[in-house]
Amino acid sequence: MTTTKAMTPAMRQYLDIKNNHTDAIVFFRMGDFYEIFFDDARIAAKVMGIALTSRDKEKKIPMCGIPYHAADIYIGKLIGAGHKVAVCEQIEDPAEAKGVIRRAVTRVVTPGTIQDDKLLSSKTNNYIAAVTWSKKGGAGLAYMDITTGDFKLTDLEGVSSLRDELRRINPSEVLMPEGSPLVGVLEGLEEEFKNITQRSAYDFELDVAAGFLTSHFKVASLDGFGCGELTGGVASAGALLKYVSDMQKSSLEQIKPCSPYFPSSYLIMDYATRRNLEVIENARDRGRDSTLLAHMDRTKTSMGARLLCTYLIFPLLNLKDLKARLSATEELIEGRLVREDIEGELKNIFDIERLIGKISSSLATARDLVALKESLKRVVLIKDLLETFSSELMAKVGVVISSHEVEEVIELIAISIKETPALLLREGGFIRDGYNEELDELRKISGGGKDSIAAIEKKERERVGISSLKVGFNRVFGYYIEVTKANLASFEVPDYYVRKQTLVNAERFITPELKEWEEKVLTAEDKAIAIELKLFSGIIRAISEKLRVLQRVAEHVAILDVTASFAELAEEMRYVKPVLSESDVIEIKEGRHPVVEAGLPEGFTPNDIKLDRRESRILILTGPNMAGKSTYIRQVAVIVLMAQVGSFVPAMSAHIGIVDRIFTRVGASDDMSKGQSTFMVEMNEAANILNNATDKSLVILDEIGRGTSTFDGLSIAWAVVEYLHDTEGRRAKTLFATHYHELTDISLTKKRVKNYNMAVKEWEDDIIFLKKVIVGSTNRSYGIHVARLAGLPKSVVARATEILKNLECGELNEAGMPNIAGAGKAKTMKLQPSLPHLFSKKDDPIRQELRDVDINSLSPLEALNKLNRIKELLDD
Ligand code: ADP
Ligand code: MG
Repeated sequence: MTTTKAMTPAMRQYLDIKNNHTDAIVFFRMGDFYEIFFDDARIAAKVMGIALTSRDKEKKIPMCGIPYHAADIYIGKLIGAGHKVAVCEQIEDPAEAKGVIRRAVTRVVTPGTIQDDKLLSSKTNNYIAAVTWSKKGGAGLAYMDITTGDFKLTDLEGVSSLRDELRRINPSEVLMPEGSPLVGVLEGLEEEFKNITQRSAYDFELDVAAGFLTSHFKVASLDGFGCGELTGGVASAGALLKYVSDMQKSSLEQIKPCSPYFPSSYLIMDYATRRNLEVIENARDRGRDSTLLAHMDRTKTSMGARLLCTYLIFPLLNLKDLKARLSATEELIEGRLVREDIEGELKNIFDIERLIGKISSSLATARDLVALKESLKRVVLIKDLLETFSSELMAKVGVVISSHEVEEVIELIAISIKETPALLLREGGFIRDGYNEELDELRKISGGGKDSIAAIEKKERERVGISSLKVGFNRVFGYYIEVTKANLASFEVPDYYVRKQTLVNAERFITPELKEWEEKVLTAEDKAIAIELKLFSGIIRAISEKLRVLQRVAEHVAILDVTASFAELAEEMRYVKPVLSESDVIEIKEGRHPVVEAGLPEGFTPNDIKLDRRESRILILTGPNMAGKSTYIRQVAVIVLMAQVGSFVPAMSAHIGIVDRIFTRVGASDDMSKGQSTFMVEMNEAANILNNATDKSLVILDEIGRGTSTFDGLSIAWAVVEYLHDTEGRRAKTLFATHYHELTDISLTKKRVKNYNMAVKEWEDDIIFLKKVIVGSTNRSYGIHVARLAGLPKSVVARATEILKNLECGELNEAGMPNIAGAGKAKTMKLQPSLPHLFSKKDDPIRQELRDVDINSLSPLEALNKLNRIKELLDD
């Protein structure tokens, strides 16, 4: 690197600033460009796809630059690649600067602190989280969305629940104390959470952190927020707030007081379950396509879309709240016409939450205020429409959105801001005429002040008695009084006339009065803009005072939007209102999988289910490939989830006893994930279920045990089912789809296990999957039929049929007791392509022979003959 001495002052200034922002790419403002130097330049040029050059004055310094007005796009690219960007501006007017222009970092943009709409998805929250962990205190978590002000915290038992919680909120940046054991423990999560930022452990000390919070929220203690007890959460929240304010360098008024929450008051679904059920992200590319969220989303506003997402990741356990959502939805279905009017208004409501966020962090433009006003006007219209409804939830929305502050803000913006202001504040012209006298005056002047000119002209004509005298203006000389040569002869020039310019046939003068006027005009424009900006910040301040009310209004508009979305969905897809209770029963008549159904124009076959405490606790579902097993067991989980979100469900009728957790596991397929074998992952996940399921849980097992050898897999699956059946406190309602038809034997010994299978119709040589779940087990897997359908060569199919016959002959099944459950010594044998021989020990003809022998009455010759027979049997 070039030595500092040899550098220009500007470069030295750059290095100073860079030293304070070592973990960020520094955008250094130079005139109309942001310049990036050294290693930052190398990284940035690559990510941003622009040329790497070097600085003229200091040849060896690598550099790249971008025009200042295009910065957003490039910042977006860098953030997307996991970098942070420190934006360093010129903070004094270059014209007035003595020496190097003063510069300072005005904000640092990190993945979790983006506030620019263009870089954010409007339909999802952008969370930033902070976590702590100590042996003594357990884990703490806080998270925030700086654009909407949401700020939550909680304490968690251990690292694994912390990890689950992080996965639920899916933050784009995670802070943790420097040197914390968490850094190591959560390293495995780097894959999911690429942006881990380590912060000084000092910020996470409880007293320090609590201090940040109390001083920011101007309270004496945190007790009023109900989070005094949550030490880990508070420590995280304080450190988080400190970080965000360091990055933003703004007041962060929009951040709502931190509020505690408890994961145990929500239905728990771990990450694997959410992924298997494709709730928020699809399994294919983690995108939004064909997810439950995308299917259910009929919201009209961004606020509603985000809230729906929150509903889906935080399903409820509380009957009362759920019933409130359901009754409100029902009401909006019944009052369809009014609902449609409401939806019409919702469509025109902008993102009030984020607008407020921008207003309170001084990022708002005049256009944002107009957008806020227009949105609030719709809110007022909705308020009137809502009067038709009386459910508890709708009544509450009505009350909140009727607050007088809404009208006040509309009024304030309406009288102060023009309807279609320019995009940029510094262009001015956005304050309405009539709002401020001084501004009106200045505008009159800067607009050329034709009247005033005419007045001066008239006055001078009368004074000097020359009727052709005129007042004019040109760019070089400014304002002047012109007298023609012809008139000049008889003209006695007054002493206050100063000669300015001589033309061929005229003389031009200036007077003190005109000079004064000139100055006024020339500065009026600048003054007007300055006044406009001052007025604007006054308006912003006035709106900010109503910040909390507006935030509550926005929250309730979102609630209304989601409820209307539920109603629209239910109506369109013919969903029913589920009957919820604390009972231990799930009974669904003609249930459908909402997403699969939506993709099947030829129709979806509905199916029933009944799970209770006495007889049908565990359902084992067998059937061939492609018969609809996976869809069926998932649809039960999805229906339960929808019910506990407060939505109507795809069924004829549904009685749902509230569940506390949903687990789903899918047997490993053959592809290997990075590092761990998928079977290991599968077993980890199975262990998690067996250790965490309760009597009130719902467990969906799809082909578990598949990722290993048949015997291993079957044995594991068998033992898992027995465990869930027999273990007090772990008797979860369980659905198990499997192609191991041997598993159906469990029902012979375990009374709460029921067998079902997928109906298949054989027709000529073909099979038809009816997608219908029927009672009983099947021992046919139709694999060979499927192979034929798939186009395997005829000879292969024929040979496979032959082999299967041979294998099936060896299968001995007439015993009343299931073979596999028997406790005998297992016969060692070579791995077979199928299972039959494993279960044939007891009925082996040799054993039969031996069992029949009565040693007491056996002569030596008979004994020899017997032995011979047995040997023959062996050779058969
Ligand atoms: P399995 O798990 O038995 O192999 P899947 O559940 O994966 O079968 O279903 C196979 C295909 O059948 C899916 O692509 C799905 O679209 C369709 N399907 C599943 N269930 C139904 C149903 N009830 N009605 C209509 N089509 C269905
Ligand atoms: Mg399947």
